[in-house]
Amino acid sequence: MLIDTHCHVHFNAFKDDMDDVVRSTLADGVQMITVGTQRDTSANGIKLAERYDGVWATVGLHPSHIFAGYHDEGEVQFKSRNETFDPEYYGELLKHPKVVAVGEMGLDYHYEYENVSLDEMKAKESSAFEAGARLAIAHDLPVVIHCRDAHDDQAALIEKIWGPYDAAAPRGREAPLRGVIHCFTGTKRDAERYLALGFYISFTGVITYPPKKSDVAAGKELLTDVVSWVPMDRFLVETYSPYLAPVPKRGERCVPSFVKITAQKVADLKGVSFDDIAEASTANARRLFRRMG
Ligand SMILES: [Zn+2]
Ligand SMILES: [Zn+2]
Repeated sequence: MLIDTHCHVHFNAFKDDMDDVVRSTLADGVQMITVGTQRDTSANGIKLAERYDGVWATVGLHPSHIFAGYHDEGEVQFKSRNETFDPEYYGELLKHPKVVAVGEMGLDYHYEYENVSLDEMKAKESSAFEAGARLAIAHDLPVVIHCRDAHDDQAALIEKIWGPYDAAAPRGREAPLRGVIHCFTGTKRDAERYLALGFYISFTGVITYPPKKSDVAAGKELLTDVVSWVPMDRFLVETYSPYLAPVPKRGERCVPSFVKITAQKVADLKGVSFDDIAEASTANARRLFRRMG
């Protein structure tokens, strides 16, 4: 059994066959957490989770949806609309027993938005994250962190909320703020900092993509090096469905059962069996997302 810990099966990309996809995924031995990104997707994810054993939801505000100019092709049923994180709204949603985390939320410096300065963007993303993190702490829930091109600031923000980075501290100590860095594509140094803070690292199909030839030629550290190095008790697997289908499905609509391909790649990189990865990643997910039971 595997758990796809980050998918969006309730997004528009599945509007015609959502229930078929969920049923066949579950029949295939893959359970899933469908992740909210703003008010509507957070509420809709819960509705889907209510209908199936083996499906859970998260509620939160993705950094891109803080800004008016963002539009996601996969989410055409609504427009992003300058949303400000509302702790009351999300605080009500997360009372639902199938909500296992707050997020996705975090810092994304990859995009630029019209009429928004870099400083304003950073300030808004960081205050939305902090509000989400405080809500998660108040309800003893983990956070799902979306971080792109911003690992230093993201780790510093967690430290600000949680306490300073301490390289000598034992790993996995109980922290008031716990969570996962989803779709991790950072460096070993980034990962080390998150692990020391008690966080988990989650891998998508990106780990199956061939690295840049120039990086290989330069002897640079690759994402696959991070995968082989990360401790067995601190990683998760996910699809990010409908995005980022792994090789050899790259370019297709990504469905949660493709998490098997990513798990196999983790197994190959670590030199262990598929079953070892399935067992470890499932145990890790259940340890982090306690409401899964
Ligand atoms: Zn994300
Ligand atoms: Zn996502």
